[in-house]
Amino acid sequence: MSSKPIHLVRIDAQSSASTDPSVPLEGSLRPLFGLDAGSLTAVMVELGEPAWRGQQLVEALYRQRVSSLEEVTTLPKGLRERLASGWEVGRPSIAQVFRSADGTERYLVQGSGGNAETVETVWMPEGDGGEAGDGSLSDGTTETDSISLTGSRSRATICVSSQVGCAVNCQFCLTAKLGLQRNLTAGEIAGQVVSVLARHRVEVGRDRLNLVFMGMGEPFLNYDNFMSAVRLLVEEVGLSPQRMTVSTSGIVPGIERFAGEPAELRPKLAISLNAPNNEVRAEIMPINRKWPIEAVVDAVRKIKLRSRERITFEYVLLGDVTDRPEHALEVARLARRTNLPVKVNLIAWNPGPGVEYTMPSPGRVEEFRAILTAEGILTYVRKPRGRDIFAACGQLKRTVET
Ligand code: SAH
Ligand code: SF4
Repeated sequence: MSSKPIHLVRIDAQSSASTDPSVPLEGSLRPLFGLDAGSLTAVMVELGEPAWRGQQLVEALYRQRVSSLEEVTTLPKGLRERLASGWEVGRPSIAQVFRSADGTERYLVQGSGGNAETVETVWMPEGDGGEAGDGSLSDGTTETDSISLTGSRSRATICVSSQVGCAVNCQFCLTAKLGLQRNLTAGEIAGQVVSVLARHRVEVGRDRLNLVFMGMGEPFLNYDNFMSAVRLLVEEVGLSPQRMTVSTSGIVPGIERFAGEPAELRPKLAISLNAPNNEVRAEIMPINRKWPIEAVVDAVRKIKLRSRERITFEYVLLGDVTDRPEHALEVARLARRTNLPVKVNLIAWNPGPGVEYTMPSPGRVEEFRAILTAEGILTYVRKPRGRDIFAACGQLKRTVET
């Protein structure tokens, strides 16, 4: 792979312009979706209404999942009309659906305010055999228990995007080909989840739902919006952060900030390790030249893990490049050296146009898993979901053609 041009990434602090969220902009409707309880209350107070009206908006936006102001029937008609002069619900909407033979659905989600670019969100009705299917749940039940406990309400996983495109330029990833187009706002990140919950009529608290921030983009390069979205999903939508996993390519300042988040808001962490050592990793992930494996592990060490929590190492198996038996032994040594409770999620590389790697043979995948397991490392193989609709890991975004 050394013949490929490798571009180093510019890592800038990226945050959205901050204006007072409770004051609408002149001449354009501002989205209510994405505002937290405090800001929604401020909107109501600004209109001369009592503060509890803000809570009615919270209920409507995040629990009843309304998509237009007319549906907010808890507010009097006159108030809805006054609100509509400056505000709209503005939740991102599902513009297109691709359905896989395995039940996976890939959505093109349109941001609020008619933003032309769409982002991709994936619904996996039975998890992905990785984050969701790791055999143990944070409440101590096993998966078999959870299926029988929930009867026909099966588990599902939603894979969420954090940016349009990505700047990190991993050589094996299709999203990297887009470059970074823009950051998503908190409302656009949380809105992907709420739109999919609405489509599938998911009952929060009853259905088993996992979120993985593993769609397009690098969440830790859009840190503030990503964490604001998590806060909305936990505090207003009612999802548990222990059922959320965020994956990073190893953005050390992001991991350090993440370590400072309170346990009741912090999702679990997955690190895209993807290589057995720094040399191979720098070839396939140029970001490794800025933050090598040791720097990433040192940052991860700062996280105060909850009981039974593990750090996931994702490992993409690229034919001949990272899938050899000696690589598995190196990964095992590396995992042990970290002295952290880790588990490894193996992902067979998913092909895409213009990305010149090869898939590992099924035999190689199994051999890799067996070596890691024999070395005492908890290891899972992530099921490829929705490959036929380009919904599998690293295949976002293939735009509208399938
Ligand atoms: N940007 C974040 C999260 C999104 S990528 C990150 O890189 O961690 C989610 C996972 O998909 C990462 O572990 C990444 O290594 C993996 N991935 C990327 N392209 C892939 C491909 N073509 N096949 C399989 N996995 C891929
Ligand atoms: Fe970005 Fe993740 Fe793809 Fe790397 S693997 S380019 S960090 S989306």
